[in-house]
Amino acid sequence: MKILVCISSVPDTTAKINFTGDGKEFDKNGVQFVINPHDEFSLNKAVELQEKAGATVTILTVGDASVDPVMRKALAIGANDGIRVDSDAKDDLFVAKQIAKVAKEGGFDLVLTGKESIDYNGGAVPGLVAGLLDYGFVNGCIGLEVDGSSAKAVREIDGGKETVEVTLPAIIAGQKGLVEEAALRIPNMRGIMQARTKQIAVVAADGAADSKISVVGYEKPASRGNVTLIDKDNVAELVRLLHEEAKVI
Ligand SMILES: Cc1cc2nc3c(=O)[nH]c(=O)nc-3n(C[C@H](O)[C@H](O)[C@H](O)COP(=O)(O)OP(=O)(O)OC[C@H]3O[C@@H](n4cnc5c(N)ncnc54)[C@H](O)[C@@H]3O)c2cc1C
Repeated sequence: MKILVCISSVPDTTAKINFTGDGKEFDKNGVQFVINPHDEFSLNKAVELQEKAGATVTILTVGDASVDPVMRKALAIGANDGIRVDSDAKDDLFVAKQIAKVAKEGGFDLVLTGKESIDYNGGAVPGLVAGLLDYGFVNGCIGLEVDGSSAKAVREIDGGKETVEVTLPAIIAGQKGLVEEAALRIPNMRGIMQARTKQIAVVAADGAADSKISVVGYEKPASRGNVTLIDKDNVAELVRLLHEEAKVI
């Protein structure tokens, strides 16, 4: 079985987010990039299937050379090799078209993604890939078992779980829970050394990264106002402030 895992390189969740002077672009300066957390669950599931079922795991990122360290980390976790489509990823349909092309031409049985990237949060790429390829698509998976030509996937639904069966090839978008959080692999020294020699094929993009959407501007949330700390025994002062200053009671 051939598994393709789509990896989005995203800012570390603790990174300070800034935008360029005109407010139209994210400022990457000084920002540490990591594997998109949802993709990390999918990658770990793929590596589990590699060990249990002899699958091969190829990672795929659409991005420029700056994504290489994140791809190497994914290889250190256990993927066999990687493919980088050498282009800016400014549009989700464009990204989906690149993934669809690689998935089809490479004859992958299973395409694993995350349910969304935690930077732009579009949540559109996996569904678009499925539409382009006419493959079955299961979103937000918290469980996955593969059996020959089909897979059973578990989804979290309001108040419960749903188990579905999907014919392969298929697109599965994973999230937290796809593997136990405690079982997420951290690259060890051996993995990091091996990752250095694993192949990342760099391929040209199919078509220009034109986008039908352009950013008008980004805004950060308003910074929090000053905080007044009141002694836990001074309820009268709390009531006075809520009444006279905050005017909420
Ligand atoms: C208006 C606008 C402007 C943007 N400008 C820029 C920009 O200037 N520079 C820039 O880098 N990005 C930019 N983006 C973000 C870019 O469009 C997205 O990163 C890309 O289209 C993927 O969409 P998403 O992040 O919403 O992915 P989602 O659909 O949320 O991602 C779901 C899953 O798809 C897979 N996936 C997503 N992206 C990739 C990828 N690149 N390679 C492999 N797998 C992937 C991952 O498995 C991910 O978990 C912009 C987005 C918008 C909406």
